[in-house]
Amino acid sequence: MPYTNYHSHCYFCDGKEAAEFYLQEAIRLGMPAYGISSHSPLPYDLPWTMSEVDGDTYINEIERLKELYTEQIEVYRGVEVDFIPDVAGSRFIKDEFSLDYTIGSVHFVDFFADGHPWEIDGRHQVFLQGLDQIFKNNIEAAIQRYYALIRQMVQDDPPDIVGHLDKIKIQSEDGQLFNEQSDWYQQAVSETLDVIAETGLIIEVNTRGMCKQLTDEPYPSYWILRQMRGRDIPIVLSSDSHHPREIMSHFSDVTEQLLAIGYNQVRILYQNQWQDKPLTKNGIEI
Ligand SMILES: [Zn+2]
Ligand SMILES: [Zn+2]
Repeated sequence: MPYTNYHSHCYFCDGKEAAEFYLQEAIRLGMPAYGISSHSPLPYDLPWTMSEVDGDTYINEIERLKELYTEQIEVYRGVEVDFIPDVAGSRFIKDEFSLDYTIGSVHFVDFFADGHPWEIDGRHQVFLQGLDQIFKNNIEAAIQRYYALIRQMVQDDPPDIVGHLDKIKIQSEDGQLFNEQSDWYQQAVSETLDVIAETGLIIEVNTRGMCKQLTDEPYPSYWILRQMRGRDIPIVLSSDSHHPREIMSHFSDVTEQLLAIGYNQVRILYQNQWQDKPLTKNGIEI
């Protein structure tokens, strides 16, 4: 039984191979649909985003692959879009790149004094610097701001998919900086889920942290997925793969947990529309 994946990084950003290799692996695994989602260009010097000048090449290359593999797999063109108020977001890019979908992610929270945005899912040292310089080491204020930005993204500039909802948790290994069980943390998450539920947007279940052995659970954590199920928030399975061998990483383990939580369908982009399909312990029934 197949799976799908629409969160995938290749040569255009920080992925390890050309897009075509991911598709060949997806075909080998019997996936009916696959999406490429490079990191959107940003006006900062960063090693992991697409460059502005690659826009046309990206569009043309994915178009070429759509046609080349049309008999074997449906290929979709997406982008993982950073949300930075007034700087970057889905509306800045969706038409420009004629995208089939966007994944909206918050990788940055506010700015250092020199105007550089604070990256919250990169090196822990950078996280600690921003926490100190921007939030005077008030971890609760920093996390509250992170979730407020996700709410703002969802309301003002909605993507199709909300990316790795609670990824900021990787900065608190063993609960040293904050604890997911804290009332204030659970309140911030719950408030964010209420806003997302109202919009009807999809939240991805992203296995990247498990693949990199940073987390035992996906983004978002299972307790959050239980709350999402209670609010009928649709989900999509994402590996956030940076290498072709990762495209279905941990999908079967996570599927088991999703079924236990009561998620017995997932949303897929198929035949050019988002539709719900049954999820079973063997994968997605198409
Ligand atoms: Zn991301
Ligand atoms: Zn990603």
